[in-house]
Amino acid sequence: MATTMTPTEQLQAARDQFVPRGLASAMPGFAAEAHGATVTDVEGRSFIDFAAGISVMNVGHDHPRVRAAILEQVARLVHPAAQVMMPEVYVRLAQRLCEVTPGDHAKKAMIVNTGAEAVENAAKIARSFTGRPALVSFHNAFHGRTLLGLSLTGKAAPYKQDFGPFAPEVYQVPFPYPYRTPGNATDVALAGLDALFHAAVSPDRVAAVIVEPIQGEGGFVVPPADFLPRLAEVCREHGILLIADEVQSGFGRAGRMFAIEGSGVDADIVTMAKSLGGGMPIGAVVGRAEVMDAPTAGGLGGTFAGNAVACAAALAVLDVMAEEDLPARALRVGATVRARMEAWQERFPAIGEVRGAGAMMAIELVRDRATREPDPALTAEVLHLCHEGGLIVLKAGLHDNVVRLLMPLTIADAELEEGLLILEGALASTNHNREVTK
Ligand code: PMP
Repeated sequence: MATTMTPTEQLQAARDQFVPRGLASAMPGFAAEAHGATVTDVEGRSFIDFAAGISVMNVGHDHPRVRAAILEQVARLVHPAAQVMMPEVYVRLAQRLCEVTPGDHAKKAMIVNTGAEAVENAAKIARSFTGRPALVSFHNAFHGRTLLGLSLTGKAAPYKQDFGPFAPEVYQVPFPYPYRTPGNATDVALAGLDALFHAAVSPDRVAAVIVEPIQGEGGFVVPPADFLPRLAEVCREHGILLIADEVQSGFGRAGRMFAIEGSGVDADIVTMAKSLGGGMPIGAVVGRAEVMDAPTAGGLGGTFAGNAVACAAALAVLDVMAEEDLPARALRVGATVRARMEAWQERFPAIGEVRGAGAMMAIELVRDRATREPDPALTAEVLHLCHEGGLIVLKAGLHDNVVRLLMPLTIADAELEEGLLILEGALASTNHNREVTK
């Protein structure tokens, strides 16, 4: 009986038996190999990858430079542990990260393993520097699955439900979401912050505001151009630190090395992870030198934080980003994607909004353009059809009704086109089942 099962069926049975259901996957099946922008499953079936490991593989899967750096480092030194004897690659990476992170001020960098850990450490450092307890984040935000990360996250189901109580002294205010905010979205968000300061916590008790310059899991929500400067002004006025969470938006994705560049704002602290390691688990906190130096010696660390192989991979990723000018490539990929999405919006009434920056583009699907009622069922159907057609793609958004594209920035034009055609086909076939409501 068992011998007639396909590899996928065998793995699925084992998964069902040994892996908890809380760990869900956007796509069915099991990955066996990945190179460039192609993932191959255990049946030998290839998929164009428009997810890039959730924005981890901006340089593409198995980039030769990153692979060589990993292999070379593995042969030399894997893990002396930074808190025992710091590996030299740690220091070289810290310096490079200080150089590439926006702002002319003196900076320091600490290396961690994940985005959530970067967020946790940014909060510790901000509290230590300011001597204040409170943290402010935004509705619709995502900052990780640790207790503090979840406390800062602004989406209840499935992330927060069942997992409380959450960390105290965390407050949330609306994020400017132009498509879903009547009136001036920046005004609404900042009025929320002002109300918070009067109703719940006085601003002189707030250590930091943490913000995604473009919300990732929230559905690629791009705030109006005046939002970050006005938010930074409020922070400055009250001595509150501004933390930019660039875990998803960083490393070229939004058409610049970091999405906050060009906003006119320098964050006091930047958190990063995902694409930094080209697939190796690594994150970092980079901030003003005096802020980063607030915790006393021994106050920061982690056994695996600053693993030498992950640091070597990250140095190679930074080389690739510069040599292949991937932020510029993201702009070109993004322009192609945006043009296609806008053409689809003409054809498919379910597309309520096309938005994003650089190669961080998304479509928000609605049941009716007039009411803007979210359509999570259609979104799930589109994802299913994409998988059937050979494309890996992710959803996002508070209502799970956003299709977001995160292809490797190194994707070849022909593969990009092939992937877009699969998504277009999925949209077209679902569109036939729907009543047209313009
Ligand atoms: N911050 C942001 C903006 C993210 O998108 C994510 C992950 N999706 C995280 C933090 C958490 O990162 P990790 O999963 O590596 O802990």
